[in-house]
Order: sequence, then C-alpha cells, then structure tokens
Amino acid sequence: MARILLQLPDACGQCFPMPERQTRQPRVAKAAPVLDAAAVREVFTRFRAAMQAPKGELYHVNAFTLLVAVVLSAQATDKGVNKATMPLFAKVDSPQAMLDLGEEGLREAIRTIGLFRTKAKNVIALSARLLADYGGQVPSTLEALESLPGVGRKTANVVLNMAFGQATIAVDTHLFRLANRLPLAWGSTPLAVERGLEQIIPAEFKLHAHHWLILHGRYICKARKPLCGRCLIADLCRFPGKEPGEGAAAALQNA
Ligand code: SF4
Repeated sequence: MARILLQLPDACGQCFPMPERQTRQPRVAKAAPVLDAAAVREVFTRFRAAMQAPKGELYHVNAFTLLVAVVLSAQATDKGVNKATMPLFAKVDSPQAMLDLGEEGLREAIRTIGLFRTKAKNVIALSARLLADYGGQVPSTLEALESLPGVGRKTANVVLNMAFGQATIAVDTHLFRLANRLPLAWGSTPLAVERGLEQIIPAEFKLHAHHWLILHGRYICKARKPLCGRCLIADLCRFPGKEPGEGAAAALQNA
C-alpha cells in the first residue's frame, strides 16, 4: 500500500498558522501554464493525506488574541511573537483588558517584536474600535476587519478563516512564491494570486488550502533553496528552478 511521506511540520494543538511577514513579492518569471484541474486536485489530495487538518504556530486563545497576534506578526517570526504573547494573553485577552493595559504597558510587553511601537499603537486603536463599534467582538466580514487599524487584507483573511471558518486564502510571501512556482496561480500581487487560487482550488479543499500552501512554502518550497527532494508534489511542479530528482513522488510509487 502506498505510503505518503509526511513533509509538513507537526504543530501544537493550541496554535494556528498565520502569515509571519508582510508579503514581499519575489520576482516570478511566467514560464508555464497553471496546473490543470486534475493536477490541482492531486496537489491538494496529497496535502490532505499528509496532514488532514493543518495547524500552525501562532499562539492565541480567542478571536481577539488571534487578531492581535496576526497584527503583531508582520515582519516578525511566529516564534518571536509567541514568546511575547504567551505571557501577555494570559492576562490580556479582550479589547477592554487591552485598553486597561494601555499603550505603554503593551509596548513593554511586546518590545522584543519588530516595529513594536507602531504595532502597540495599532492594537490599542483597534481595541478601542472593537469596543466602540462592535460591542467588543471581532467582526466577521472582510470589510469590517480591513477597516481596523493595522489590519490589511491578509490579516483579515487569516482571522476569517481561523476564527470564523470561512474558506478564505491569506496570501503571505510563502504562499505567493509557491503559487507562482508550481504554478497554481500567476500574479505579481498577493491579490492577483488570491483571486487565481479562489478560482482553481476545488471547494472541498478551500478551508485548509492556505494552511497547506503556507506550510509547504515555508518549510519545503523555500525561497533560496527549495527542498525538492522532500517535496510530495515534485512530479507535478513545473518550476524551472526546481532541484533535480524525483522527490517524494518516487517514494509514493516505491512504497
Ligand atoms: S518541486 Fe521544488 S520548487 Fe516545486 S513545489 Fe516542490 S519544493 Fe517547490
């Protein structure tokens, strides 16, 4: 019986995936048509077989702390954010508690995270907005989330997906790179890639699609030196720069 190599990292059951940096768009050269429907289905069938319910690494305890964590994660690592937020969220897990802590207190709590001054200002401002306009709850629409200080489309999509179970696709730098390499969707902007992915990914895979793609991009299809020899979709990939070898597809056939 075929055995699929697990290539995505284990994740702690309390944590969730998230884009860890603001998307920098790598240069992509348009070289091949996007994968056809059968290949796309095969890609996600293999991801699902390898990891049924992908989870990531950003710590949070509710929708509000998820929103805060994603805002804090811009241009920072999940590990670095978690180091600051684990003790923070033990005491501060609501907009009111955040306002009670205050901007100075928050700055102190997150001072190990890059851009902490700006992020502290935004988190305090968004907490105030949540209390003033949304009864202290995190809203469940893209428009409302994007209207909050420090919240862009990617952050909003992560929150909608993880907190509200909406099949959104948050395009971070890893997903952007992978989508253009395979290619699943061409695009010079995250929005173009998001639109392309929305059209091509079968409905049954959409809820977890961005988690699978982000994790694969982050740990296997790395920017400088993709680990093609460990890639379970190597035989489907048309990236001209992929490393020679048959990848995990061979392991599938030989198992
Ligand atoms: S074969 Fe290499 S370039 Fe293609 S998706 Fe896999 S890791 Fe990325």
